Amino acid sequence: MEFLIFMVILYFLPTIAALALRRDDDVAGIFLVNFFLGWTIIGWCVALIWAAASQRSMEVSHVPVSSGRFCSHCGALSPYGARFCAACGRAV
Ligand SMILES: [Zn+2]
Repeated sequence: MEFLIFMVILYFLPTIAALALRRDDDVAGIFLVNFFLGWTIIGWCVALIWAAASQRSMEVSHVPVSSGRFCSHCGALSPYGARFCAACGRAV
């Protein structure tokens, strides 16, 4: 009986990993691949890799639009209204 429970946990390891890693957007897809294709070793591996893959999207909470100007020579951000780059001294 313990072996059966162990095998079920092992079979659903990709879904468990997705839940543990909080892949909320992909949990349904990972579960479906895991459930229907997990019996093939390739399907199980695909689900596990999908669950372990890094998050692609990152939330940006604040983007300063007019807080300064980027220097065309060195790329440093100079404060708004500056006429010369603070890093390299060239006109911005
Ligand atoms: Zn510069």
